[in-house]
Amino acid sequence: MKRLLLVHTGGTLMMGQSTESGALSPDAYKRDLLAELPVLKQLAEIETTFLFKLDSADMQPEHWIELGRKVHDNLSRYDGFVIVHGTDTMGYTASALAFLLSGLDRSVVLTGAQKPLNAIRTDARTNLVDACHVATLGIPEVGVVFNSRFFRGCRVTKLDAWSMNAFGSPSCPPLAELGLGVQVEKHVLAARSHAPYDDRLEPRVLAVRTFPGLDPKLLIGALGSGVRGVVLEGFGAGNVPRLQRSLIPVIEHARGLDVPVVIVSQCPRGAVDLSAYEGGVAAHGAGAISAYDMTTEAALTKLMIALGRAPEARIQAAQDAFSHAWAGEVSLPSGVG
Ligand code: ASP
Repeated sequence: MKRLLLVHTGGTLMMGQSTESGALSPDAYKRDLLAELPVLKQLAEIETTFLFKLDSADMQPEHWIELGRKVHDNLSRYDGFVIVHGTDTMGYTASALAFLLSGLDRSVVLTGAQKPLNAIRTDARTNLVDACHVATLGIPEVGVVFNSRFFRGCRVTKLDAWSMNAFGSPSCPPLAELGLGVQVEKHVLAARSHAPYDDRLEPRVLAVRTFPGLDPKLLIGALGSGVRGVVLEGFGAGNVPRLQRSLIPVIEHARGLDVPVVIVSQCPRGAVDLSAYEGGVAAHGAGAISAYDMTTEAALTKLMIALGRAPEARIQAAQDAFSHAWAGEVSLPSGVG
């Protein structure tokens, strides 16, 4: 039988209702999952450990690093890993782990639920059983199992706060589908040998959504307060305003401070193309870096890690990082990378 380590970090899956506020709260998170779902023991030999007990809105980069270390330290002791996590920031944690655990030859599977395990219409049971099953398959990726699909972790985003189909990876087909059997797709990454754990990360990164009326003075002010990198969510193909309230001087100002500005698209699907419109051309001319079809979650976490590893040459570090994929997080146009 395969050996799995199941790491609890919190989230709705095991939450209960707070007696004070009536809201779902991680404080009621203290049950023995294997006792509640003994069927899991038929899938693998599972050990559980409680690392955190958080609503994932309270997850921080320090938690990603600790979680990554927990997995990394145990890589040779288990055949796979399941991480129970809240859905709200699961895409960020999954992206960060995909980059922190760059040498993987086994699965690290995050899962959670829209409704707690003790709710009558819970999705927790299926998601957990599916996650444990997928984790035994040896797919060498960090991914998210949700609603019968296994997504690449650094491509996933929470798209739905209501239905059981909470996640999607609009620019990358699922790695596997769970139906009567499990269909694993061909684009899973090849296994890579374990690498030393590098936990350097720069959290002073800002993600900003471009919108009509965004005052560039606010961004200049933010740059003056110690921002080390910016992820700018441009419109459509990465377009930004260049006439009234132009953001181009902001990008130029950032360049003068050696602060990289990485552009993602606000659209969940499709890629940045800084040659498509004048606003993109001007942004590129001012030094902006394209993240192509990366999610904001992946761009942000990759930028944090790239800057943490090269604090002295930030723009160069970001240009290098975004010129090639680290963990399948981007589809580069031909001729790039
Ligand atoms: N607020 C919860 C969390 O992210 C939502 C969930 O788990 O679905 O921890």
